[in-house]
Amino acid sequence: MRNLIALFACSLAISTASANDPPAAAHAAASKPAASKPAPAEAAREPAAAKPSAKAAAAQALSEADAEAELSAKIAARLAVMRANQAARVAAAAKAKKAAVTRREAVAAITQPPPARPFHSEHWSYEGETGPANWGKINSAWAKCDTGTRQSPIDLRDGMKVDLEQITFDYKPSGFSVVDNGHTVQVTVGGGNFLTVQNRSYELLQFHFHRPSEERVNGKGFEMVVHMVHKDPEGKLAVLAVLLERGKGNNLIQTVWNNLPLEKLDVVNPNVVLDVADMLPQRRDYFTFMGSLTTPPCNEGVLWLVMKQPMQASPAQMALFSRMYPLNARPLQSSAGRMIKESN
Ligand SMILES: [Zn+2]
Repeated sequence: MRNLIALFACSLAISTASANDPPAAAHAAASKPAASKPAPAEAAREPAAAKPSAKAAAAQALSEADAEAELSAKIAARLAVMRANQAARVAAAAKAKKAAVTRREAVAAITQPPPARPFHSEHWSYEGETGPANWGKINSAWAKCDTGTRQSPIDLRDGMKVDLEQITFDYKPSGFSVVDNGHTVQVTVGGGNFLTVQNRSYELLQFHFHRPSEERVNGKGFEMVVHMVHKDPEGKLAVLAVLLERGKGNNLIQTVWNNLPLEKLDVVNPNVVLDVADMLPQRRDYFTFMGSLTTPPCNEGVLWLVMKQPMQASPAQMALFSRMYPLNARPLQSSAGRMIKESN
């Protein structure tokens, strides 16, 4: 009898060790579901085995071999119950852990700030330590400036010549404001000026200038470029670029120069209107490709439309801008195999 009790204790130790073996425990639970039912009765009867008087009576009726067989069956049943309970605990723990992870992820998605930013300066420029080569390192939100594969500007060459649809321009005389934002002269235009292309209408927000032109055509740069930034109702951007070469004076540019603020970041709201249509060349052929903003944060997904025919500005108009911004152009970026389409 004593060795049977020892066997029972040993079996308990084995079953405890098997708790660390979830697949086996799970298997036991799956293959012996019926074993869990007799468990309470067996457990209740167990202490009786320790009473010599009761056992003495039983021993008279049963042979020693029968008693061992009975106790072995009890032990087996008890072990089955314990394993089933362990399997259930392991399964419940796994389920709770999974639920906790899911909950953590859901909470994180809502409340966690973006990943730590090792750099978060807002200052950038076109030369030196804060120049284009380092934009992506100045602020981690500007990483695309370094890592993007659809960056602008690019050299426009080897375009696919196709019958590109005409861009529809719906521009009208509008109020405007002028600011020197420290990177360029920017003109914010009143609402209601649209261009439509690829079945999408984009509203003009602002236009600004770069010197020299950021984009090149077959390697050829231009003295300046105007970028007209448009946005559709979904927030998608389309930038129309008009290259500027030296020649006749341009009325629209003159209107802007006439209203330059005296101080950086001061905003001038002139009591006159300008018509952005005056900035459009006669021929409406263009290049188009997907690119980015050419200043931090260098966001991609920008539809670029570069007019093939340049417009002109007078040498005096060019000179005036160059006194403020002799160089405010981002260097060429890799076209990274992207498609460029151009009007035939
Ligand atoms: Zn620009």
